[in-house]
Amino acid sequence: MYIFGPVPSRRLGLSLGIDPLASKSCNLNCVYCELGRSFKLVSERRIFVPTADIIGELKTYLDGGGEADFITISGSGEPTLALNLGELIGAIKKITDKHIAVITNGVLLSDALVRKELSGADVVLPSMDAFTESAYIKVNRPHGSIKVNTVIGGLRAFAAEYTGEIWLEIMVVSGMNDSDADIFEARRVLDTIPGIKRIQINTVVRSRAEAFAEPVSDEKMAHIAMLLGTRAEVIGKFMGSSLHTIDSVEDAVLEAIKRRPMTAEEFQRTMGLTKVETIRVLNLLIDRGFVKKDFFNAKEFYKTADEPR
Ligand code: SF4
Repeated sequence: MYIFGPVPSRRLGLSLGIDPLASKSCNLNCVYCELGRSFKLVSERRIFVPTADIIGELKTYLDGGGEADFITISGSGEPTLALNLGELIGAIKKITDKHIAVITNGVLLSDALVRKELSGADVVLPSMDAFTESAYIKVNRPHGSIKVNTVIGGLRAFAAEYTGEIWLEIMVVSGMNDSDADIFEARRVLDTIPGIKRIQINTVVRSRAEAFAEPVSDEKMAHIAMLLGTRAEVIGKFMGSSLHTIDSVEDAVLEAIKRRPMTAEEFQRTMGLTKVETIRVLNLLIDRGFVKKDFFNAKEFYKTADEPR
């Protein structure tokens, strides 16, 4: 399955996700990634899933009366790595007039072809967590070929060309990119990119790649938003990025897990979710204290948190 949701997203309303990658593929290895570590960084663009396969699923969904405010291309990693991204956006537009959003880590915005492909989207949501090389390496742990100034240059070029809206997300990690000096540097850079319409401040949730990646307090988030100026706003602590917001399926998953503990694979099959979506739902439910993991016969099971061992 290459479509997931729809899920209510504070940033995008009812958002139907599209995953053009199918399994985690990313050029970064962010310490806060809810999908876990990127064991092998991917730096080359390629086709992961044929456009026709994704469009077939989307058409079935829409023909069946499926609702969505936004069709959001995100998925299990960095969607601009999908070489068919532009073709996919064009194909979606042929079958629906719903708004299209793309969530990206922004690394490939330095590629003119990627910028051109993204021009078909209505909203692009890049993330940019650090504005110095040292903080970028600490938080985002990029592929060795990626330099922060090139990424900033790509963002600047994109903002100058793009006619849709750009909403930038900054994921704040305690002690890594949250000092006033970090934020002043972000402000200094972002003030030179007026094409960014909104700057959205977010922080880490408990299910993240590295246990040492800690969230910051609500007060700190508000302070950072204040330092960043009038375009900045705080988005909910447990919302995750809009890529990771899954409240609409949460109840259904909890109902299923109450009946019996299940492995992640069983969940995926039972709920008809993608692997990525399954991981997100289960991690959020663990974060919220509803679900816990257990091991039996060397297998990992998920069960309700109040169930005895
Ligand atoms: S948070 Fe996004 S950009 Fe960072 S490693 Fe995960 S998928 Fe890649």
